[in-house]
Amino acid sequence: MPYPRLIISLNDIYQNALTLKKMCDEKGIELVGVTKLTLGDPKIATILKEAGISKLGDSRLKNIKKLIENNIPGPFQLLRIPMISELEEAVIYADEILVSEEKTALIIDEIAQKYDKNIQIILMIDVGDLREGIWYEEAPQKIAKLFEKLKFVDIRGIGTNLGCFGGVLPTEKNMNLMIEIKNYLEEKLNKKLIVSAGNTVALKLLEEGKLPEGINQYRVGEALLLGTDATGHREIPYLSQDTVILEAEVVELDYKPSVPVGKIGRDSMGRIPKFEDKGWRNRIILAIGEQDIDSSGLKPFDLGINVLHASSDHTIADISESSFEYNVGDIVKFRLSYGSALRAFTSPFVEKVYK
Ligand SMILES: *Cc1c(COP(=O)(O)O)cnc(C)c1O
Repeated sequence: MPYPRLIISLNDIYQNALTLKKMCDEKGIELVGVTKLTLGDPKIATILKEAGISKLGDSRLKNIKKLIENNIPGPFQLLRIPMISELEEAVIYADEILVSEEKTALIIDEIAQKYDKNIQIILMIDVGDLREGIWYEEAPQKIAKLFEKLKFVDIRGIGTNLGCFGGVLPTEKNMNLMIEIKNYLEEKLNKKLIVSAGNTVALKLLEEGKLPEGINQYRVGEALLLGTDATGHREIPYLSQDTVILEAEVVELDYKPSVPVGKIGRDSMGRIPKFEDKGWRNRIILAIGEQDIDSSGLKPFDLGINVLHASSDHTIADISESSFEYNVGDIVKFRLSYGSALRAFTSPFVEKVYK
């Protein structure tokens, strides 16, 4: 069996999906299952579907195409505001598209008309995180104007994304801002709109019963697939974190000083390494590197392991505090941060094993 590998527990993902689906259903929220972390993995998509999540979302059209080619039924939501150069395919493969530019919306309108495709768009509003979206103060007028210009495509609603650039947390305040904009637009356009405002970090508002009435779509990936919330910095207590486990193999076992010998420049990634002198230490080298993981996001099962560093192909860990006797050829297990899991799923060098 080749290493490194990801052990993917479809059952744990299924249980997470059931739990979140139920939570959202109880509040009348449509849950979109976000697959981008998994490179559009059809087995994982199937499990989400089996748990009753009908709409899947992905940031990459290639992933959506892959799901369709593997007979995963839609509807599909395209999460990343699309490139003009991919709009033709976006209209063909997606059913719902998040949009923040008038120019993009107008081209989608033309293409959708050409293909006679019933595409819906959700207009993204930036309520402060500073990633995508029309700035909230200008959004009501801009969206009302755009509505007048669209001939074919339907505006399904408004959306926002939080916690991704600025790390801004969803609060009752910024969620209420979305509701105010929705109310203004519903009256002005004389139509009902949805509000797509959640990702994993917004689950907290739902749990605490603080989500304003009217927020009715959550696009969730991390919580389903890892059971964690990177922005909120927590393991979600009612979800499983055993969904995805990384196994890597020990290729060297050694006893070396904790501080390098010689004049220090930068490491292979251009970073300036820092060392604390702890004397001579027991260490292992694992056959996995920055190409496959983000070493700062490795969470060892053996709490006696301290991951020190990785270069492109080698990860070095201090095992002096471990009570386990490691050997060359041993397998070491880790849970992964979002960033680390993203790289592991994307790396062709990491085998994917389903259980
Ligand atoms: C990735 C993404 C999500 C899902 O976020 P998670 O934190 O993984 O739940 C939702 N919306 C957009 C626009 C995204 O890019």
